[in-house]
Amino acid sequence: MNGHSESHKPGIIISTDGISRFNSSNITVWPIVIALSNLPPKVRWNKDNLVVSSLWVAERKPPMTIFFAHLRNTLKYLSERGINLNTTEEIINLKFQPLFGSFDMVAKAPILNMNQFNGKYGCPSCLHPGVHTASRYYLPDTEYPIRTNDNNLQNAIEAEVKGTRINGIKGKSVLSGIVDLVNGVPLDYMHCVLEGVTKWMLDKWVSSLNHSCAYYIGRALGRLDAQLLDQCPPHDFSRAPRSIANHRKHWKASEFRNWLLYYSLPLLVSINMPPLYVHHFALLVCSIHILLQPKLTETQIKAAEEMLQDYYLLLPDLYGISSCTLNAHSLSHLSLYARIWGPLWVYSLFGFENLNGHLTSMITSKYKIAEQLSFSINICQSIVSHADKLVETENEETLTFISSLSSSLRQNKKMVLVFPGIYAAGVIKHASFTNEEEIVISHITAISTKDILIFHKLYLKETYILSTRYVGKRSSSVCSYKHNGTTHYGVVEKFCLSPPIALLKPFKVTRTSLLKESGNPCREKLQRYAQTDLLSVFFIPVQKTSLPLIAVPISNLVSKCVLINLKELNHSYVVVIPNLILSTTNFILNFSCELLHYSLLILPHNYHNIIFLSRIRTFRDNRVFVHYITLGSC
Ligand SMILES: [Zn+2]
Repeated sequence: MNGHSESHKPGIIISTDGISRFNSSNITVWPIVIALSNLPPKVRWNKDNLVVSSLWVAERKPPMTIFFAHLRNTLKYLSERGINLNTTEEIINLKFQPLFGSFDMVAKAPILNMNQFNGKYGCPSCLHPGVHTASRYYLPDTEYPIRTNDNNLQNAIEAEVKGTRINGIKGKSVLSGIVDLVNGVPLDYMHCVLEGVTKWMLDKWVSSLNHSCAYYIGRALGRLDAQLLDQCPPHDFSRAPRSIANHRKHWKASEFRNWLLYYSLPLLVSINMPPLYVHHFALLVCSIHILLQPKLTETQIKAAEEMLQDYYLLLPDLYGISSCTLNAHSLSHLSLYARIWGPLWVYSLFGFENLNGHLTSMITSKYKIAEQLSFSINICQSIVSHADKLVETENEETLTFISSLSSSLRQNKKMVLVFPGIYAAGVIKHASFTNEEEIVISHITAISTKDILIFHKLYLKETYILSTRYVGKRSSSVCSYKHNGTTHYGVVEKFCLSPPIALLKPFKVTRTSLLKESGNPCREKLQRYAQTDLLSVFFIPVQKTSLPLIAVPISNLVSKCVLINLKELNHSYVVVIPNLILSTTNFILNFSCELLHYSLLILPHNYHNIIFLSRIRTFRDNRVFVHYITLGSC
């Protein structure tokens, strides 16, 4: 893979995004946030491990040259001279490698010092000029050359000399010399795919302006909503589904993600959306499922690339040229970044969202926002290094408050190891087998006593599978398991600790598929995809009623799944969650375990020590700019 950091250099990921806190005020807060790529993903975006390096508070967007100037110097220092970490045995000099920056389209253009998405040559990845009608559209008519770092640098020099724009480039970027200006600025799927294309499509389908179009589903919106609100997603989905008709405009990116990956296709098929549009949309759903896997192979990237290309090619035909926005065009570049940096979640802005939410919650008044934030950030960033002392001296109430500021202070509840990586959680209590349970367990193991220990919460691969006891508006009891080398699906009734067994009711997989239920798309290209059953890997059709109870060794459980059960469909669908195993994969983890452990445990603490509020610079018009990282303390 290109773009690896040197094995001894922790990689730095840079991000910035505007946050609005008050509806009544135009003030936005822009933090520059740094993440360390060498931390496993599960802890990489933990707010304790994200470093706010600069803060801009103003009604206007930050001028990027000023905003990034201090960070540029710091990154140069960190990559050339590094910081010294004192261990008990030696002093280790740790140099950092800036890898890439994650930004939305709005921030990316000024950071790259190029035209916005509505300007000519507004694509940061290729030289598509776009055509201007009512707005700028990027039609899939011709393939244009991919930009390169060298060409962008040359364009910038020429643009500055001539005082004009060359290939959309206005001048030197604040990131030049720090990261590659094309490969090092990957596409963020949260904005591009979810809040971009997915939202655009849903709006298009239900807007009454399109009532005469074949894809219009506004007349079935009531049925669609009723079935959507009936769904019981797993407990770790941040939100239960909200109405499309009433709340779509306020949906968060995670709601668009759940809509795209889990609900959309079964729901669209259930209300008989014309097959042509369902099959076309399935290309987007399927390719994003693939690109969100924990790891990617070239075969997977190639498959997703073809689907996205075909999706993009058919867009103007199915939805008119206004569908060819820069976001839609950018889908054709997702594979480029997947080849360099891996799956989409690696460089999505989702990781930074938690911190943005946390920063927002720190603002209590619209006055002196920068001061409020810098005070709170200072406390939160230094609290980690004082955690041990605080536990000794503070009372429980204070510790509860502090733990809300720092997730690293939260105690993990006690869990009992069942198998490596699999734990029994929650209450474990004595119970007796029923006759039925005794019979099914005797099929796989001999049992000597009726008195057993049972539990209802199992920790598996970074997530919890909860028995049907916990099913309400949420359900985390559907899972996949291996039996005789093949994957099956079922719903867990309870877990038994000894022998370690899950008692579950399996689903019978049926021979149909979502695309078959939808009908014939009458387009050769889409028919070809339907024949390969592209969706059956991600949407498994099962009979609505589960089969009688069976016993499965807990070590055979594979992963939690989502069950989509719709009144208007003949089958239910088990949807595989694309990734849950984040902490065991890392796209650039060339570290020895020792050093990884070292950077995990020691680096955040020491790193926090070199960060302090150095300077608040107030401009005459009340813009406030705060620098955090100060080289003097390194
Ligand atoms: Zn492009």
